[in-house]
Amino acid sequence: MRIGCRTLACLLIQVDERILSVLSICAADEHAFADQEYKLFEELVKDLAFGLVTLKAQVIKKELEKTFLLHNHAIEAVRNGITITDARQPGNPMVYANPAFKRITGYDSAEVVGRSLSFLNGEDHDQPGLDTIRSAIRRQKTGHAVIRNYRKDGSLFWNEIAIAPVKNSTGEVTHFVGIIDDITDFKTYQEQLEYQPTYDELTGLINRNLLNDRFDQAISYAQHNQNEVCIFVLDLDNFKVINDAMGHSAGDELLTIIAKRLLNCARAGDTVTRYDGDEFVLIFPQMAKIEDAVLIAERIIAEISQPLQIKGHKLQGTASIGISFYPHDGQDKETLLQHADIAMYHAKDRGRNTFCFYTEELNLRLMQRLTLEEDLRQGLKLEQFMVYYQPKLDLYSGKISGVEALLRWKHPEKGMIPPDQFIPLTEDTGLILPIGEWMMRTACLQAKVWQEAGLPPISMAVNVSPKQLHLSQFDKTIRKVLDYSGLDARYLDLELTEAAVMNEPEKMVVTLTRLKEIGVQISMDDFGTGYSSLSYLKRFSFDNLKIDKAFIKDIPIDKEDVTLVLTIIAMAHNFKLKVVAEGVETQVQMDFLKQKNCDGIQGYFFSVPLPGREVEKLLRKINGKISVPDSGLSSRIHPSSHLSKQPVYRHAKNTRIASLKTMLAKYRCPI
Ligand code: C2E
Ligand code: CA
Ligand code: CA
Repeated sequence: MRIGCRTLACLLIQVDERILSVLSICAADEHAFADQEYKLFEELVKDLAFGLVTLKAQVIKKELEKTFLLHNHAIEAVRNGITITDARQPGNPMVYANPAFKRITGYDSAEVVGRSLSFLNGEDHDQPGLDTIRSAIRRQKTGHAVIRNYRKDGSLFWNEIAIAPVKNSTGEVTHFVGIIDDITDFKTYQEQLEYQPTYDELTGLINRNLLNDRFDQAISYAQHNQNEVCIFVLDLDNFKVINDAMGHSAGDELLTIIAKRLLNCARAGDTVTRYDGDEFVLIFPQMAKIEDAVLIAERIIAEISQPLQIKGHKLQGTASIGISFYPHDGQDKETLLQHADIAMYHAKDRGRNTFCFYTEELNLRLMQRLTLEEDLRQGLKLEQFMVYYQPKLDLYSGKISGVEALLRWKHPEKGMIPPDQFIPLTEDTGLILPIGEWMMRTACLQAKVWQEAGLPPISMAVNVSPKQLHLSQFDKTIRKVLDYSGLDARYLDLELTEAAVMNEPEKMVVTLTRLKEIGVQISMDDFGTGYSSLSYLKRFSFDNLKIDKAFIKDIPIDKEDVTLVLTIIAMAHNFKLKVVAEGVETQVQMDFLKQKNCDGIQGYFFSVPLPGREVEKLLRKINGKISVPDSGLSSRIHPSSHLSKQPVYRHAKNTRIASLKTMLAKYRCPI
């Protein structure tokens, strides 16, 4: 009205009853518009409405296009392969695959559209992951799996696939989106990880991953063969102190050295692992007996406690060891390790630097053994050892051809202990070396004393343990002993067992040749109990052969033994060996052997092992005229006090005998 407007027409611009806007047309006159003009306005409003709607739609479309492009770019740019499949078509064919799909699989989008994604499985259909995916599709749910797929070039890749259903506005699943990820590198890395940690980087030893395998193998082997498996848990006693005081690199160096030492103590087939920090686990898959475990444990403890040099400091490491046995102490590895661990803590409680069995009964045996070992060392110090001599009778001449020196231990409480009960221990502990040398010297001196006393010379047989025989200087020791005693080499007779010779036959040929050069005699002891190899008898050029008492016991009743003994005699004679039968206890046995041309006998029938003084009497009686009275030399050779009470000798040779006795007196116990 203010601007002079008298008529106003208001027209609604609407689409489907929805009002978009209002168009107002003004006129100066009253009732300015006629009906036709109104109709025109209505036409105009309709056009306007159409125009506005179209315009809006174009804007929306543009916006949609923008969003679509963004999404599309995103889909095309991601490193994951993305596929869209049509869920309504049979076989769920692909309708889209992004460029990453090509990068991963080698297949172009055009090559795969229309095909089912399962063609990537090749022939490899039997995979649990595929079942997961198939079931997800069936149930129209999301699914996730890792499957083996094959690239266009046939190479395998590990596909981590996730699928999700896509629904339309009515809620119907029309498509599936699949996201695939090539995790081949990760898988390879994982496999490497699984492989790598089987060895401990620091020490190069097997670590606990591989230990489990070895453990399983050892147990299943033992189950099959009914043998025992021995487990050591070894813990260093002072590792923390060294680590704290000298730093981790010193600790590392120590562990490396210890690892080497442990490996030195192990045989082929044993397992040595660094289990954790300074804890090691060792598996011995074929431990024959507890004594072997003791030996190895002692060796390890001795090895570890050898002084070592780290960063210019001289150190000594010690270890505590716990031992368990399969099947005795547990059926599975966890139990066996746990029990060995408990035993290891017992060893720590016992003052460290030692070992302990899990089973009390074994500990008891160990204690007995340790007591015996201690007694043995004491016995040597206190001169409780003595030598008895058992005569051998020559069946042709009826004279004593020689004696065998046999070790005796007179224990203050347990009385006379037979050698079978302590010789093995002396061999294990190495005490056999000083004892053996002492035996040798004593026996040679005794033989010389008898000769000097005017008795017809006889041979002196001394048993040689495998340990002695394998000493590189053994021949030198023999020369020294002979020099020392003044005994002619041909009167010394070394008794060796088959086992001692067979251990390293090549080396033994050399050793025995050296011994033969000295001029001593060599006898094969206990023949028949070991390998009884004829070829070796020849090769090693023995002088005498002693048939083991086991074969003499039942002759002439046991026909098999008779055949065996006769064969041995014939064969030995063939090789120019003299045959002595051991353990002859009866007249019948002796008569039989004599009739069958056996050269000599040794056994209770003729004489038990006797102290030297008794043998001397026997020698005088049987071997002929003697030129001196009882030399008074006791079987108990070493104690000087005893020797100082010798009778005064009237014979000219007395001076020589006296000087030999002084030597004997000076030569004390071996330790
Ligand atoms: P060996 O060398 O076979 O010694 C013979 C053993 O048979 C001796 O037992 C002896 O006492 C026993 N013996 C002798 N005659 C008879 C008999 O008629 N019947 C029976 N049943 N036995 C008889 P000993 O003295 O107990 O010695 C046992 C083993 O100990 C010896 O067997 C030998 O292997 C070892 N030994 C003894 N002394 C030494 C030694 O000084 N050094 C080494 N390395 N071993 C020794
Ligand atoms: Ca012997
Ligand atoms: Ca023997």
